[in-house]
Amino acid sequence: MAESKAKAKYEAVKEEIRSLGWARPGCVTRRYTTCGNPSCRCMAVPPEPHGPYYQWSHKIHGKTLSLRLTDEQARLCREWAANYKRLRKLVRRMEALSLQETGRTLGAISRS
Ligand SMILES: [Zn+2]
Repeated sequence: MAESKAKAKYEAVKEEIRSLGWARPGCVTRRYTTCGNPSCRCMAVPPEPHGPYYQWSHKIHGKTLSLRLTDEQARLCREWAANYKRLRKLVRRMEALSLQETGRTLGAISRS
């Protein structure tokens, strides 16, 4: 890749990061639960569990954080989580372009 082309791609990635909204890590899952009350429908045969509930969870320093979410909160968290995935992808792209182009620069230095 020509240096100017690589530079343009690099700038495009930076521009996309600039326009990205909140990037919240973690994932949103739909959960069903049982309450433990033996006379409840969730303990019947066949069981009808409570829910669905939404839960956000994220593992940080080996500990899993989790949060019960409303439908609206779940919708927001999914959007932010998608931004987070996009951000990670864009950063990896910047790393790859940087590795390639700095490698080229280093090669140019050693040849001169
Ligand atoms: Zn129940």
